[in-house]
Amino acid sequence: MRILVTGGAGYIGSNLVDRLMADGHQVYVIDNLSVGKIANIRHHLGSERFHFVNDSILNTTTMERLIRQVDMIYHLAAVVGVKYVVEDPLRGITVNVRGTETVLELAFKYWRKVLIASSSEIYGKSTSVPLSEDDDRVLGSTSVGRWSYSDSKAIDEYFAFAYGSKGLPVVVVRYFNSYGPRLDPKGYGSVIARFIGQALRGEPLTVFDDGLQTRCFTYIDDTLRGTIMAATVPEAEGQVFNIGSNRETSILELARLVLKITGAQTEIQHIPYAQVYGVEFEETRRRVPDVRRAREVLGFEAQTPLEEGLQRTLDWFRGQQGEQEEH
Ligand code: UDP
Repeated sequence: MRILVTGGAGYIGSNLVDRLMADGHQVYVIDNLSVGKIANIRHHLGSERFHFVNDSILNTTTMERLIRQVDMIYHLAAVVGVKYVVEDPLRGITVNVRGTETVLELAFKYWRKVLIASSSEIYGKSTSVPLSEDDDRVLGSTSVGRWSYSDSKAIDEYFAFAYGSKGLPVVVVRYFNSYGPRLDPKGYGSVIARFIGQALRGEPLTVFDDGLQTRCFTYIDDTLRGTIMAATVPEAEGQVFNIGSNRETSILELARLVLKITGAQTEIQHIPYAQVYGVEFEETRRRVPDVRRAREVLGFEAQTPLEEGLQRTLDWFRGQQGEQEEH
């Protein structure tokens, strides 16, 4: 197939590209390299099955040219990560809403199947455990910048369902804290990247607040398997799926695990939220997916134990560090 991956030079996108290339597809990537990196896709640049466009998904001319050429689209390009969105809400809202609107409008025009990448941030600060796809969303005031990310993704989902109700084959996946190779070591999108980076530099691990807030960390291989299943199982069309592990881990537990596997001689430092995000920050204390729908409709279940995924991620980070030292 000819497949377009928006955000294909990013963390999940480039890992997806590797998989699609290995499966023999023609792969088209659009990425403006705002957080994506050429290094993530460089190994495909010589291939005649690989086509890279360095542009924004807001450029409708480029998008139309690409979407006309392909059979289906994985739409992963977005401003991702609470910290980036809090720092520049306008950019986050514009890219996430207008970008997805553009993708869906053109997919509708040329009748192409689309997978939309959404987020577990959708559920906001809901205290419901586990979170099932049809659960209520619980958000704070619009004066709290954090929730604009959740709402931007919710609008994306509404767009997807609206086009779906017109018959367009669409599917939505909500990622739960994905991690693995190619996470940005300096980035704010992932606490795992932050902790491994800090440990390797011998810096204290910055646990926000008491560290008793929990997440379900999902290794990239599982994230990808769930994504591809959602895009290919016919019964998935028109539906939304939680894609994640249901092993709940506190941030403090994670910090201890990172210290253990890295062997780093450093400490854990608790930092109040106010110091990191400003006083009006609100936190999601627990986030656990209900994985039944993915299991029943897709036959998907996350399989990689956290310890194993962390070890593989650490090996990759160490490799990167080695490369930097050589140059
Ligand atoms: N976190 C932390 N220290 C850091 C970065 C994040 O304690 O240096 C916490 C953060 O407060 C949240 C969790 O780790 O409770 C996961 O944060 P991340 O940014 O990875 O993803 P989120 O689930 O918030 O989108």
